[in-house]
Amino acid sequence: MLGDLIGHLEKEEHRILRDTVARFAKDKIAPIAAKIDEEDWLPEEIFKEMGQLGFTGIMIPEEYGGFGIDPLSAVIVLEEIAKQSASVALSLMVTSVLFGHNVAYWGQNEELKKKYLPRIASGEIIGAYALTEPDAGSDSVSIKTRAERKGDYFIVNGQKMFITNAPVADVFYVFVYTDPSKKKEGMSVLLIDRDMEGVTIAKKLEKMGMRGSPTGLIFFEDVKVPVSNIIGTEGMGYPQMLKSLEIERMVISAISTGVSLAALDWMVRYANERKQFGKPIGQFEMIMKKIADAGAQLDAVRTYLYTYAATYDEERDNRFESASVKFLASETAVKITLDAIQVLGGYGYTKEYPVERYMRDAKLLDIGSGTSEIMRFVAAKSLLKAGKII
Ligand SMILES: Cc1cc2nc3c(=O)[nH]c(=O)nc-3n(C[C@H](O)[C@H](O)[C@H](O)COP(=O)(O)OP(=O)(O)OC[C@H]3O[C@@H](n4cnc5c(N)ncnc54)[C@H](O)[C@@H]3O)c2cc1C
Repeated sequence: MLGDLIGHLEKEEHRILRDTVARFAKDKIAPIAAKIDEEDWLPEEIFKEMGQLGFTGIMIPEEYGGFGIDPLSAVIVLEEIAKQSASVALSLMVTSVLFGHNVAYWGQNEELKKKYLPRIASGEIIGAYALTEPDAGSDSVSIKTRAERKGDYFIVNGQKMFITNAPVADVFYVFVYTDPSKKKEGMSVLLIDRDMEGVTIAKKLEKMGMRGSPTGLIFFEDVKVPVSNIIGTEGMGYPQMLKSLEIERMVISAISTGVSLAALDWMVRYANERKQFGKPIGQFEMIMKKIADAGAQLDAVRTYLYTYAATYDEERDNRFESASVKFLASETAVKITLDAIQVLGGYGYTKEYPVERYMRDAKLLDIGSGTSEIMRFVAAKSLLKAGKII
């Protein structure tokens, strides 16, 4: 049956986790998912509730109050939340994995880690990850945000664009150049608090999907950041970017599979119930093809994602796996959600059913955290570099 193949990858604790998240998402998120989308509203208290259950601590070590570093648990949590609301899952992924995990993994200043991580893990505060700039998207090494050292401080100037959680975040994981003359080797990461003087959250962007997960533009103007707020050491920004994107692309794929599962569920239920020409539309071959394709593609990509997450080894070069699972999962989500609208016909096009929301949410997944074009570029480059396959 669909989904059975990944069963052997999950331990008892994963099954318990899945049940707990699924119950929470059905009780607390499903009833407000349409409102979150319609009003573009992030229910901040949901983070505190998820914090009490440990979900905001995914990929954060237990010593800092987190759930522990287990990519498979992160995949399960994000997939189950995304089945009900992809936008809540996206904001959760950013605060816990992109902010929390990276601070825990790369941070060398214990005081800094103790200051932020337990509060991120409990959902008390929200984190954001700020790499993209107005003129630096796919070409992320061309960022211009500059941090100039002045005694015990860095003076930061620049802008960040499309930053998930920016309108509500308390703290930002910011990629800057501390020494632009060194190119990639001059890139660093600083933690910048929202309430530091010179930080302005310029605006919340109006989006077609992922509404509820707020996206914003940030300005830094002569922001005085203590040197102790550096993550890792000066010049370590580029390796942090590569490794953090590797993990991001794995876990964001779980949001894609969650949305795809929700869309396929609607396709199957509707095709069994809706009758035209005297029989359920699920008996028409062209509808059956959509359902068969969706099931096969989803099972294949979920098996890939779960195998990758269960065997993830941070020491390995995972660029091929992260890039390929990301474009496969996100493009599958776009296709399945579009097909779900088609199966539901005119009803699928209305807001009476959630499938049109799934499609609008899914479209972000093949753009954010690296577009499908860039994912194919990374995957192909990795194979070409290997030089041979057999
Ligand atoms: C809702 C949302 C949330 C986001 N959240 C965050 C966040 O939290 N933090 C963050 O740092 N960023 C975030 N982003 C930014 C996101 O990662 C970028 O939008 C993405 O990497 C693409 O960059 P771009 O939009 O500047 O597009 P561009 O890089 O300008 O690309 C435009 C088009 O050109 C194509 N293209 C570019 N270069 C090549 C190439 N070499 N070969 C072939 N095609 C190419 C792209 O694939 C794309 O189709 C978010 C974006 C959105 C929309």
